[in-house]
Amino acid sequence: MRLSQSFVRTAKTPPADTETVNARLLQQAGFVDQLMAGVYSYLPLGLQVLRNIEQIVREEMDGLGANEVLMPTLHPKANWVKTGGWDNIDVLFKINSRTGNEYAMGQSEEEVVTPLVMSRVLSYKQLPTKVYQIGWKYRDELRAKSGIMRGREFLMKDMYSFHTTQADFDKFYQEAKQVYLRIFSRLGLVAKATEASGGAFTKKLSYEFMVLTDAGEDDILYCEACDYCINTEITKTAVGAVCPCGNGTLLTGRACEVGNVFDLGQKYGQDFDLGYVDENSVKQYPIMGCYGIGISRIMGVIVEKYNDELGIVWPKSVAPALVYLVSIPGRDNAALVLDTATKLYSSLQAAGISVLWDDRELSPGAKFGDADLVGIPLRLVISDKTLASNEVEWKERTAKEATRVSLDAVIAQAIAFK
Ligand code: ATP
Ligand code: MG
Repeated sequence: MRLSQSFVRTAKTPPADTETVNARLLQQAGFVDQLMAGVYSYLPLGLQVLRNIEQIVREEMDGLGANEVLMPTLHPKANWVKTGGWDNIDVLFKINSRTGNEYAMGQSEEEVVTPLVMSRVLSYKQLPTKVYQIGWKYRDELRAKSGIMRGREFLMKDMYSFHTTQADFDKFYQEAKQVYLRIFSRLGLVAKATEASGGAFTKKLSYEFMVLTDAGEDDILYCEACDYCINTEITKTAVGAVCPCGNGTLLTGRACEVGNVFDLGQKYGQDFDLGYVDENSVKQYPIMGCYGIGISRIMGVIVEKYNDELGIVWPKSVAPALVYLVSIPGRDNAALVLDTATKLYSSLQAAGISVLWDDRELSPGAKFGDADLVGIPLRLVISDKTLASNEVEWKERTAKEATRVSLDAVIAQAIAFK
């Protein structure tokens, strides 16, 4: 992307009245625009980050054997009445139509996925089956104050699994838990899996995946020595207690839930009276699980974890581009600088490396400031000074100092950096 031709705009100063780091940096660096509390537009760079997060999640869901679908956001009231959600889920947005009909905005999709899947699964031979989608969810959250970490409209990956036996479900549940931990680590996050009580309707256990951050809204107890972690809402355990592992004491911290997995039991099959026929030709209801990941929330959490006094410091796996190329035409060699930058821009892209080229007519200082604010992992600078020795300046966002790399070697070195 050439910045001179793009819609990317950074701001000199952070927006007023933002409380959290992610809200401040993502708006100032031009990743998102707030329409109202809890509702954001994702601008070109922000959209690219969302897509990068989505892609990692998608690869891992496909690896679990789940099928991607896209379900509607506008739901008929009847489905939500059947499950009890219409009267019991306080965050459900309800819409009155001029035709006298009522609708719900999807805040989760059990009400859609259960009839969708179970009208097609007639026999035990078709189970287990898993579907997932990546789609926008709507929730009438009372307070939306943590930037994109708590939206009234937000992007979620939601997967649903359908099984014939508890044992089959339990096995998949454990597999999904491991895959979740891998997803978060690919996203640059250390997530701890807490055991928590299930959702609105089930007493069964669930896992919540928590990332320590002061911008979170949950309090957890976690072991200093092992992975043990528990949500303080549900526990009588106190800070300083010895961890069940025996090797550490429990510390307390603020955390944000980036995902969860729930055992839904047979509730939804029963609510819709949709089952399958087992090997003895007897009707059974499926055992279901649901598995959420907050895609847009994770973008906010990553910014909370990866920033410094100059701006965002994106992990490579989700950065909107790998390279921020700065051309500084100068007075004498403007044509040569431009020509070399044009060639480097194309060769980097041909090598599969994403580049933001800052070819705007701005001072070097302004370009460097934006490079740091936007947080691209690698900054390359071409100027008449570097060209005097056939070099480019190489500066990693996490490094203090810049170095020089010869023009001949820079593509190979960038590939290695990737
Ligand atoms: P929370 O306790 O934070 O409200 P939740 O238990 O309501 O989360 P789920 O209904 O299970 O969350 O949704 C799945 C995932 O979607 C959560 O783990 C979280 O990452 C994300 N999520 C939930 N609510 C929001 C929101 N309002 N804005 C952004 N992401 C959200
Ligand atoms: Mg919630």
